[in-house]
Amino acid sequence: MLTIKKKFSDSYNFVYNKTVILRADLNVPIKDNVVTDVTRIKKIVPTLKKLLENKAKIIIISHLGRPNGVWSKEFSLKCVASGLEPLIKEKILFCDTNIKSLKKDELQKKFATYNIILLENIRFYKEEEENEEKFIKKLSSLGEIFINECFSCSHRNHSSISGVPKFLPSFPGQLLENEIQNLKNLFYITNHSNSIAVLGGAKISTKIKLLEYYASKFTKILIGGAMANTFLLAKGNEIGKSLCEKKMVKYAKELLTKYKDIILFPTDAVVIDKTNNDKPQVKLIDSIKKNDVIFDIGPQTRMLFYNEIIKSDTLLWNGPMGFFEQKPFDAGTKFCLKAIAKNKNKKFFSVAGGGDTISILNQSNCFNDFSFVSTGGGAFLEFVQGAHMPGLASLND
Ligand code: ADP
Ligand code: MG
Repeated sequence: MLTIKKKFSDSYNFVYNKTVILRADLNVPIKDNVVTDVTRIKKIVPTLKKLLENKAKIIIISHLGRPNGVWSKEFSLKCVASGLEPLIKEKILFCDTNIKSLKKDELQKKFATYNIILLENIRFYKEEEENEEKFIKKLSSLGEIFINECFSCSHRNHSSISGVPKFLPSFPGQLLENEIQNLKNLFYITNHSNSIAVLGGAKISTKIKLLEYYASKFTKILIGGAMANTFLLAKGNEIGKSLCEKKMVKYAKELLTKYKDIILFPTDAVVIDKTNNDKPQVKLIDSIKKNDVIFDIGPQTRMLFYNEIIKSDTLLWNGPMGFFEQKPFDAGTKFCLKAIAKNKNKKFFSVAGGGDTISILNQSNCFNDFSFVSTGGGAFLEFVQGAHMPGLASLND
């Protein structure tokens, strides 16, 4: 597994009077030109303060949404600059000059008045996602030191992630370092510990490596959500009209044979009968009929999973146990989350991650019950299964 050789604090000696390019994740929700959730902006404030204390000049680079290489007002970072100013208590220059025609000298002149310059959305340039050499060189020419503070993109081979470190002395940022330190704990599990992975969500195909990795490593894997439906189908159960991935049935069978004592499945479910769209009912898995749709784990399964979770000392959680966006199908996930809170006072290390997983943690107010919640989304999934991360590897070169 990858270890980053440098620390954020190693950069302190190098940044004095230098221009630092800070790649951040300011991909925040915006409505009517106002940032509606400043959590991500707040998070980089300590990093910026540390750099300013060490007399750095800072160029912030970030992406916002998916503009696919096209300039558009909708994805402009302009209002993010306004959102950051009061939090850092510094005037920030928002610079929407095209990077390709931007000169280092021009930026240096601006640094006489400003300590922080925020460039326009890096994904307005198609060269960003193409990892294009000329663009990388141009970007690198604007600064002297590079800091990667964007864990969520570090599984990508993008210009501002893995490209710039080829040309500039590079360091991890404080948040990125913290993320890696926490997630690394999952790799140091001994065979004696009671480790559990709770996996759910919609698709097995997006989480194959995750399933295999933790089935071979952890004491138990609890599977819920639509992911469980594909396994139930593979076991020969009727799952009615429930969401599943037919093309993954063969793979699910193989996993079942190999790890039958490790993987636990739902024994009951909350279903809706598609023909009369009736109220949700609880059914044992063996009693599911061809018109039923499984939307959540049932009470027996909730208890089964709860009891496993409270016995564990290490836990990884990714994916909701049901169709949580619609009540009451959030109840199964929320019930199991209570077991995490119950474990809080014992020696227990728990990590959660994934876009929808974070949404339901927020909804149920149990962010703080976990030892660590990753902000990474796709990057989190890659990291926790030991995949190669170009943005992290490039910091060591
Ligand atoms: P994450 O983003 O946390 O990695 P996923 O994207 O894999 O999670 O899965 C989340 C999605 O899975 C949600 O939209 C949720 O509604 C859906 N889901 C979970 N269980 C079911 C189910 N039984 N039927 C339909 N959708 C489900
Ligand atoms: Mg998702």
